[in-house]
Amino acid sequence: MPYQSPISPGHSWYEASVGDRPSYAPLDGDVRTDVVIIGGGFTGLSAAAHLAKAGTRVVLIDGARFGDGASGRNGGQLGTGQRTPADELEAALGFTRAKALFDLAEEAKAHLLEFASVNGIEIDFMPGQMSVAHKKRYVDDYKAYADVMATRFGYPHVRFMDAHETAERLGSQHYFGGTRDSGTGHIHPLKLVVGSARVAAQAGAKLHENTRATGISSNGGKVVVTTPQGTITADKGFIAVNAYGGTLEPVSAAHVMPIGSFIGATVPLGSDSPVLPGGESVDDSRFVVRYFRKTTDGRLLFGGREIYTVDNPSDISAHIRRQIAEIYPGLKDVEITHSWGGFVGITVPRMPYVREVMPNVIFAGGYSGHGVMLSNFVGKLYAETIAGNRDRLKLLEDLKIPAFPGGRSLRAPLLFLALNWFALRDRF
Ligand SMILES: Cc1cc2nc3c(=O)[nH]c(=O)nc-3n(C[C@H](O)[C@H](O)[C@H](O)COP(=O)(O)OP(=O)(O)OC[C@H]3O[C@@H](n4cnc5c(N)ncnc54)[C@H](O)[C@@H]3O)c2cc1C
Repeated sequence: MPYQSPISPGHSWYEASVGDRPSYAPLDGDVRTDVVIIGGGFTGLSAAAHLAKAGTRVVLIDGARFGDGASGRNGGQLGTGQRTPADELEAALGFTRAKALFDLAEEAKAHLLEFASVNGIEIDFMPGQMSVAHKKRYVDDYKAYADVMATRFGYPHVRFMDAHETAERLGSQHYFGGTRDSGTGHIHPLKLVVGSARVAAQAGAKLHENTRATGISSNGGKVVVTTPQGTITADKGFIAVNAYGGTLEPVSAAHVMPIGSFIGATVPLGSDSPVLPGGESVDDSRFVVRYFRKTTDGRLLFGGREIYTVDNPSDISAHIRRQIAEIYPGLKDVEITHSWGGFVGITVPRMPYVREVMPNVIFAGGYSGHGVMLSNFVGKLYAETIAGNRDRLKLLEDLKIPAFPGGRSLRAPLLFLALNWFALRDRF
């Protein structure tokens, strides 16, 4: 019987293909440390690895297994820039800040690949990313985006594709055009989680799975985290729970909202399959984005379905197969061997939420579906902050991120209505 995460539904293809996944014993007793980290996804593990390498004493706890949140279960697409496109950021924040945020994301991309390579983590990187228009009326936006990237943001790797090239590169007539970004790609995210945990542990970080934080407080210069198995007392705290924090810390919970997103993996399609012959990943222009790519063993890994409640749908495979068939009619009966989901942490402006939520305690999360490269880098920026340089983390701390309207009880129904309205627009 495969291991089933208690916090995210379904058994993922990543779990089936990750290879050795060492476990870490729960916390047992009271401990004292320099930094306590709650959450063992990319954000927390990256922070732990960088802090420990710098000689800081770190204790990291996770309520489940590392990677059982979004980090071990996502689409693996690195993307480019922030979740909000650079030209929109420029309109909102001015060129200087938009360019600084774009450059930060580029550094995040380079950092992820270098971290994996330097530490011998095989992350199955495959190059190339395509963004495609599911309505003809969006095609000009893609053309303009490629221009802006090259001329204003100094990023020459995005190229416009017309309908013909798009069809050839996707192996599908479903889309009307788009862009191809040769400066990014996609990875096996759980391999990065497992490797990051190894690096952190080898550098001296104390890592504990199946240890849920039940509370966090900060008084008189001391941060105290309680768990059912013991208490951690530290000088500083880092909350890296993203969309999985529940009621642990109310300020961040009001700003980061969980949205369920679901993925299916097909059987290997075979080397003669016309699907994505170049191996790029894809995202499309739908508000409920469809994102897909092939794996190193030739499966189509397809994400699309979203839900705006914390219930788990029972029909992930059937739903995903229907979405695949719209794009690849030849795959209408394809076998889906694995289907699973996880919670994406979104914010109102779709930019990360990084804040000192109580004295000496920083929260980082809410990457809004764009966290694979950013979350890893934010962990490094947190370590930089502890070492005395907060300038780069500050770029994110300075972003204005309003709380979701409606308070804790009404925000989910309000968001449900708003998002369903946008999802409806995808069809017209
Ligand atoms: C289905 C899906 C597809 C996605 N696809 C992409 C993509 O293609 N590209 C992209 O850039 N981003 C994508 N994302 C988003 C990306 O995965 C996240 O932004 C990123 O993994 C966030 O990492 P994190 O470490 O901040 O949070 P998480 O990985 O969610 O980790 C949070 C951890 O905190 C732990 N935790 C929570 N509460 C407690 C507590 N009280 N005590 C102890 N531990 C606790 C959880 O167990 C969990 O392990 C996707 C997300 C999902 C769910």
